[in-house]
Amino acid sequence: MAHPLTAPLLSGQRRALARAITLTESTRTEHEAQAQQLLTDVLPHAGKSIRVGLTGVPGVGKSTLIEALGLHLADAGHRVAVLAVDPSSARTGGSIMGDKTRMPRLTVHPHAFIRPSPSGGALGGVARRTREAMTMCEAAGYDVVLVETVGVGQSETQVAAMTDLFVLLTLPNAGDELQGIKRGIMELADLCVVNKADADSKAATRAQTELTAALRLLTPHDAPWRPRALQASALTGKGIPELWTAVEAYRKAVDVRQKRQGQTALWFDELLREAAWRVFQAGTDSERLRRLRAEVLGGALTPVQAVHRLLSPTERKEPLP
Ligand code: GDP
Repeated sequence: MAHPLTAPLLSGQRRALARAITLTESTRTEHEAQAQQLLTDVLPHAGKSIRVGLTGVPGVGKSTLIEALGLHLADAGHRVAVLAVDPSSARTGGSIMGDKTRMPRLTVHPHAFIRPSPSGGALGGVARRTREAMTMCEAAGYDVVLVETVGVGQSETQVAAMTDLFVLLTLPNAGDELQGIKRGIMELADLCVVNKADADSKAATRAQTELTAALRLLTPHDAPWRPRALQASALTGKGIPELWTAVEAYRKAVDVRQKRQGQTALWFDELLREAAWRVFQAGTDSERLRRLRAEVLGGALTPVQAVHRLLSPTERKEPLP
């Protein structure tokens, strides 16, 4: 039997969408089972959006740009969902990114849905809930999903691994900033946007040139997509339509379906690794694990031998589940 939220969610009711996401965020066991049921119900109807990840240091203009882009798209008839991944909320229960009041005009647009970052739980948990929230948004008919993340810590890698393309926002003083942008984050970027170009257009052009050169060095010659650097002003709206044109060009150049399949495969592997690790940390396995680790540290076994023993069916007291 389908979950009671399935029909209202598929018909695009916002309230149902908000409740569905709340269900995925619950840590109660019965809610988790219900959320998985609901996800299974709606999965055939999901997956049809373009998922765009956006990152940049606090103050670069993420919320201003997302609001400008969101309004541009919503006015053009798209249905736009905005989700946030904020690792600070996972650690402290508070959030760097605050709440929905950061995008006041988009919040009230009938074609937009904004959901602040789920708080509590580890970053892995936040990432899982964001994936599930994306699926719910797609099931409710949102064809653009924007996922915002603060440019600190590991959340960029997580968001890049769950979106179709990843946008890095920078400031016009990128020359100095380029040192500060971690190479790893540049490698994730499919598009770089120099925001606040209105504030200093010469510096913005210089930054665009430098970023273009840096991106060229990072990209293999035969890549289906060559990451681009653009300029924009989230405040005046200049460059926002061009940003979306670049997203569309990316979508034509890259096989997004195939990319998502690869992401899902990696995600499955990661969940499996976590689950397997939990099995070995629990019950009788935890004792064996402790003993074998001590033997490795004492030099009685090599790490490889210890892992073989841990996995050996003849040595296990219980079968693996
Ligand atoms: P976030 O922390 O990355 O989400 O940054 P915000 O969107 O909150 O913006 C930080 C500040 O920069 C705010 O005062 C914005 O009004 C301002 N800002 C954002 N985009 C632009 C822009 O394109 N030009 C100018 N001049 N200011 C901007």
